[in-house]
Amino acid sequence: MLAGLLIDVDHLLADPIYDAERCSIGFHPLHTTLPIVFYLMLLIHPKTRALGIGLSLHILLDGIDCLI
Ligand SMILES: [Zn+2]
Repeated sequence: MLAGLLIDVDHLLADPIYDAERCSIGFHPLHTTLPIVFYLMLLIHPKTRALGIGLSLHILLDGIDCLI
């Protein structure tokens, strides 16, 4: 679950740091299609699954912000 926090560094690099109205998917470098595919691939292997769940959950939660 630590990786879920690490990906938040992406948000800290953004300006402003937090904007609830903004969709972060496709905005931050770690929230684009290629990294997301990488996070999903982490789910396949049991050893990296926990990492993948943390990262995918983060993307999912950020994605919900895009829908509202
Ligand atoms: Zn995020």
